[in-house]
Amino acid sequence: KNVDIVISGNGGAFNWRDAVEFMAVGASNVQFCTLPMHYGFRTIRDLRSGLEHYLKEMGFTSPMEIVGKALKNIKNQEDLVKPETKSEINYDKCIGCGLCFAACNDGGHMAISWDSELRKPTVNEDKCTGCAMCMQVCPVDAIRMREKFDSKVHYFAERR
Ligand code: SF4
Ligand code: SF4
Repeated sequence: KNVDIVISGNGGAFNWRDAVEFMAVGASNVQFCTLPMHYGFRTIRDLRSGLEHYLKEMGFTSPMEIVGKALKNIKNQEDLVKPETKSEINYDKCIGCGLCFAACNDGGHMAISWDSELRKPTVNEDKCTGCAMCMQVCPVDAIRMREKFDSKVHYFAERR
């Protein structure tokens, strides 16, 4: 939104949907490297046909009509409503692997303490930033995130 230059989207695009998302936020071209290296040049046909179908379905006459389409939805950080999000551990499911402790500790937030005798993690909510890294590394889905927004509470958990 803030620059008037040609933007090239690269790093992480793996299918035509990714390309559309890059374009919607301003990229007028998208680069693919790992995709054809891994799955061969036939992937270019898939990219092309996926994009063609999408354009037709959405009523666009040119890929350039997608470029920047979603920019109006992007807000400045200070305008975002930030819910309070905290990690919550279900001790009935926890197997004491310690992965959440390692992720939080080594990731820098240091919001989980670890009882090495009981093999039990405990979340310090004052330090928890709600990054959800612990939830993502837990092998048994024992962690969910509690989100408080407008005094309403809801939970989200890793989907496997
Ligand atoms: S959500 Fe992030 S900061 Fe909070 S306990 Fe989990 S890893 Fe630590
Ligand atoms: S990652 Fe999950 S299973 Fe492992 S200690 Fe943490 S809560 Fe328990």
